[in-house]
Amino acid sequence: MVRVRFAPSPTGPLHIGGLRTALYNYLFAKHHGGTFILRIEDTDRTRYVEGAEAYIIEALQWCGIDPDVGPHTKDKINAGPYRQSERKHLYKKYAEQLVEAGFAYYAFDTPEEIEALRQRLKAQGSKTIHYNYMSREYMKNSLTLPASEVQERIARGDPYVIRIKMPPKETIRFYDEIRGWITVHTSQIDDKILLKSDGMPTYHLANVVDDHLMGITHVIRGEEWLPSTPLHVFMYQAFGWEAPRFAHLPLILRPDGKGKLSKRDGDQMGFPVFPLQWKDPKSGEIIKGYREEGFLPEALINFLVLLGWHPSDNREIFSLDTLIKEFSIERIGKAGVRFNYSKALWFNQYYIRQRPNKDFIPLLRKAIKENQWRDYDDNTLETIIQLLKERVKRTTDFIEEGAFFFTSPKEYDEKTIQKQWKQETQAFLQFLEQTWETLEQWDVENIQNTLQQGLKQWGLKPGKAFPLLRVAITGKGAGPSLPNILAILGKEESLKRLKQFLAYVQSVKQPL
Ligand code: GLU
Repeated sequence: MVRVRFAPSPTGPLHIGGLRTALYNYLFAKHHGGTFILRIEDTDRTRYVEGAEAYIIEALQWCGIDPDVGPHTKDKINAGPYRQSERKHLYKKYAEQLVEAGFAYYAFDTPEEIEALRQRLKAQGSKTIHYNYMSREYMKNSLTLPASEVQERIARGDPYVIRIKMPPKETIRFYDEIRGWITVHTSQIDDKILLKSDGMPTYHLANVVDDHLMGITHVIRGEEWLPSTPLHVFMYQAFGWEAPRFAHLPLILRPDGKGKLSKRDGDQMGFPVFPLQWKDPKSGEIIKGYREEGFLPEALINFLVLLGWHPSDNREIFSLDTLIKEFSIERIGKAGVRFNYSKALWFNQYYIRQRPNKDFIPLLRKAIKENQWRDYDDNTLETIIQLLKERVKRTTDFIEEGAFFFTSPKEYDEKTIQKQWKQETQAFLQFLEQTWETLEQWDVENIQNTLQQGLKQWGLKPGKAFPLLRVAITGKGAGPSLPNILAILGKEESLKRLKQFLAYVQSVKQPL
């Protein structure tokens, strides 16, 4: 029975790399009819950020990949609690178990002694501090101190940590489902701390103990955790537990391929890296997410899944259901994948077109209310949505691109005016002004006829006359079909805009 977990630390908003990890775990679990757990790894209280856990849950739910079990659900599988801070009491005895079995030891070194070690290693040319099979020999720990002193120190409450005791000359071999066999020599691995002096577990201890206690069968996580895996494998062996299978996902790279996509890159390059908006609890700074930028969750999912996984053919469009059917770890590559925002927009545009028009009515209603814009009935709103749909890439574009349906233009596209304002085009607009006044039935067909008449009368091609009319009515140089726009605006409003425009151009331009 497959059981996987997504184990974020609540240190801030969920980055899309983390979201992809969650997605792959979800898909893998669902594909195998297994269970997807959310475990909050919050033992490092110094990095804890208020609101991050709620954010993570909301983001997963918005994407439709809600975990089966987690701190936000009933404990259906009886493996909780699912916040490590609520499991604190569990970990110490496991660290002690390793000490008893000879795989770990107590270390009493003071910060000054650790600093002295750092200096000594530095003098020998080492850039980083290594507390390992060599240096532990001359530090204060239960391997070097007499047993009686160790007992005394513990009894008197001296601060200590528990460290893993890596043997000097062994190899650790494990199979990564994406990368194949990996072999690491134990001399390469430091004696990592398992239990901190405040009695709290480190990531390594809590992670391994919880994966075991929760019955995790597959650990699917980011590549940045690969260096920790040999230690974890060693710990499983030391505990005498069967290790889960491991799959380390490829990195998501910056669009230029230079390094890992970071939280800062989005800001600098103008695209979101978070699924939802995040308000920093300290600074109050607000960072927009995909949701607020006008993305549909199905588009984000489809975009994200292909950053690492690929199907057996060249299809690109995948619903969550299809993904559940087809997902497999074998089809995840190991090479880093470049992030490509225009591809994300392409998917979003596709999914916007797939959605029924009525889905976007609430969005428009909200904007109408907020801006105190002209209101329309639902049918007309649907027509407006239909007209805009082919052009929008983000749902927010319905508002940005379509504002002219609800409010008259605040400014006019100068380029078009420069290019198209001529004697004949001015006459064309004046002709329309007069003709429209007396037009009885204001509908697409009749409007179309008046435009044709005007063109004929002044010997104009549509490409010469319509752009200016469009600017007069919408302010913009491009947009949906003009007769349709005019029909929706109505005779009165259309005439008002036309007059306004003529007055404006005449006021700023020399008479022709
Ligand atoms: N807490 C780790 C993180 O923040 C979990 C890594 C893992 O999945 O083991 O990603």
